[in-house]
Amino acid sequence: METRLIPVIDASGYRSYMEVPGKTFFEAACLIDGLLSEAVRLDMSLLHLTEQELHELGVRKECRQIRTQLLYLYQDSIDALNDGHSIQQLRTRIDELTVRLYELEESIGKNEEYEGLIVPRPSTHRITGEKVGQCQQCERAVYSGQKYPDPEEEGLFCNYHCRTLYRRNNKKSPL
Ligand SMILES: [Zn+2]
Repeated sequence: METRLIPVIDASGYRSYMEVPGKTFFEAACLIDGLLSEAVRLDMSLLHLTEQELHELGVRKECRQIRTQLLYLYQDSIDALNDGHSIQQLRTRIDELTVRLYELEESIGKNEEYEGLIVPRPSTHRITGEKVGQCQQCERAVYSGQKYPDPEEEGLFCNYHCRTLYRRNNKKSPL
């Protein structure tokens, strides 16, 4: 396993190096930053990170702090429920922090690292009304509540984009 020597400094200014797994200094710095105690921190003066990497380190740190806060809030919620108290306020705070955490992790592309934790993007494919059939291009169901091209023209498509793709493909195929 590839490792990097990462400089750290303690509160009294004592420098040392830690051997950390990582293909780059940034990767190793990210890993060790989450494991350092309060008394020791990365020695930024010796770690030549780019502005973007410094930003990402900061975001990752904030994410860890939010996760810790969430953990306490969940524990408080369990206590409150056991004591028969309302958890409405705790739940509101948990929701706020969860959204913040998601946004932060998305901003540094971290969400994709955890398959299964990815929140699906809201689909623009509307599913109101009755099912009228299937898109000839993408094979998704088409519903009467959504805007779709006139099926009298060339058949049914879920949207104009799919019809454009269909037209393009049909032009390419030999007659
Ligand atoms: Zn379609």
